[in-house]
Amino acid sequence: MEVTEQIIEQKFREYNEEYFNSELPLPRFGLLKSYTTCGYFSCNKIVGRRRLRGQRLDISVYYDWEEEALKNVIIHEMIHYFLAHKHIDNGLTHGDAFKEMSGKFNREHGLNISEKVDCRGFRKTKNAPRISWFFTQIFY
Ligand SMILES: [Zn+2]
Repeated sequence: MEVTEQIIEQKFREYNEEYFNSELPLPRFGLLKSYTTCGYFSCNKIVGRRRLRGQRLDISVYYDWEEEALKNVIIHEMIHYFLAHKHIDNGLTHGDAFKEMSGKFNREHGLNISEKVDCRGFRKTKNAPRISWFFTQIFY
């Protein structure tokens, strides 16, 4: 499947309801042009316990996504979002809080969320923008 912003939004809404008690406000969605990063959550620097601003969830358009892989990547990013939203981990790290939450999801919902997603094995889309051999050698 080739992702679009609409698909990411639809999945986000679904998982927010199913796994996060609909607590996460809708972020902006975007398409990432990267082979090395398959998903990315970002927001403005979090100061103290203030409400988050500028939240954004990006997914790489370079991959021909399998349903399960996409789900694991989106939920991975949503865990970062949730932990920042609750001010449990403002640094968006893969620390104890992340490990605990992803481990719980994996056990209870049969997901396969890891700290680092290795996207090298993913199939690329036919329409993926070309990048040079040189570039891929450096960044893979
Ligand atoms: Zn992460």
